[in-house]
Amino acid sequence: MRRLVLLGGGHAHVKVLADLALRPLAGWDVHLVSPYRRQIYSGMLPGWVAGHYPIESCAIAIERLAAKAGLRFHETAGVGIEPDRRVLACADGTRLSFDRLSVDTGPLPAIGDLPGSAVHALPIRPIEDFVAAWPGLVERIRSRCRRFDLVVLGAGAAGVELAFAIRQRALAEAWSHVFVTLAGTGELPLEGSPIGLRRRVAHLLAQRGIAWRGRHRACAIEAGRIVLEQGPPLAFDTCWVVTGAAAPDWARASGVATDAQGFIRVDRTLQSVSHPWILAAGDVAAYADPRTKSGVYAVRAGPVLAANLRALCEGRAPVEWTPQTRALYLLSTGNRYALAAWGRWFLEGDWIWRWKDRIDRRFVRQSTDAA
Ligand SMILES: Cc1cc2nc3c(=O)[nH]c(=O)nc-3n(C[C@H](O)[C@H](O)[C@H](O)COP(=O)(O)OP(=O)(O)OC[C@H]3O[C@@H](n4cnc5c(N)ncnc54)[C@H](O)[C@@H]3O)c2cc1C
Repeated sequence: MRRLVLLGGGHAHVKVLADLALRPLAGWDVHLVSPYRRQIYSGMLPGWVAGHYPIESCAIAIERLAAKAGLRFHETAGVGIEPDRRVLACADGTRLSFDRLSVDTGPLPAIGDLPGSAVHALPIRPIEDFVAAWPGLVERIRSRCRRFDLVVLGAGAAGVELAFAIRQRALAEAWSHVFVTLAGTGELPLEGSPIGLRRRVAHLLAQRGIAWRGRHRACAIEAGRIVLEQGPPLAFDTCWVVTGAAAPDWARASGVATDAQGFIRVDRTLQSVSHPWILAAGDVAAYADPRTKSGVYAVRAGPVLAANLRALCEGRAPVEWTPQTRALYLLSTGNRYALAAWGRWFLEGDWIWRWKDRIDRRFVRQSTDAA
């Protein structure tokens, strides 16, 4: 029997698992390697911070999904690939040989050039570590009588949503001593987005009582303060680091072809350009048609990855995929209100939040129901 190993339980692999649960792959022994038994859906994480959802509502039970699909589940992380020998090394010492490998491990937090951030601050990824740190944060906030500064460092879509979310939570819990600051390198939040949207988000931040600190490029994090390239340091009691996506070191170290940042280069069939028996999708992949790192593209890659793994394992030709050029972004502002951005256009309203809420819940429910 030949062996297919799925590394990581990301968005695309959730689709692969659902596909395998419907139709097992004859003649293949399939394994899933993931450090966690569940996959927390990042799109709902700000809603969890805001207090709209319990964490269980944001989680997909990937271990259960794997069991339903007849896979063997390994609760560990992949730490190295020997692509020519076709061996995956895992953190628990397991060495899994494979005939085909599919990688969907997502990104690491981009903290490589931010010394001290893993010690003195809380990176948003791994999301499970962020979630595990929550009770300690609540305890610290509740036991503090004087001002408590929470700084969200990184003003992309995730940082913006988290700043709105924690502000909402502070209002809901009557934590009037909690002050939320969002800091980013641009003049306005959401660098790279259309100017109208950026101005509107800056306005909404001010309206919600969130301090915006633009042109703040952090170079290190020390106990209680962010050291900036220019100007005095920014003090904090808690700092969340949401500075973007970085590639795992093991990808480049394995000798598999990667792009300049270390993400695995794949062709339009999602096969590695150097080792076609290895496939990759989601944020860990550098697509032939480059796209921003985003859950939208990871989800869209899922059915293609499922179809191509099946085709290749059954000896058929894989299909080519060109990701859509634009994606719809739904950005919640914490108070059950959201903005929808499509290219240069955006709309806002509480109905957009209800729309996002329905889409997010449906994604988790459908993935969970497959288990
Ligand atoms: C707060 C927040 C909100 C966001 N909201 C949105 C949004 O609304 N829309 C959107 O499009 N994008 C959003 N994003 C971005 C989105 O989270 C990512 O683009 C998306 O998660 C990428 O999906 P993925 O499948 O590549 O990886 P992930 O979803 O990160 O999944 C990877 C999985 O692999 C596991 N893993 C990691 N390393 C290893 C390893 N070495 N071995 C085995 N398993 C491993 C992880 O534990 C995880 O379960 C948001 C991000 C954040 C942080």
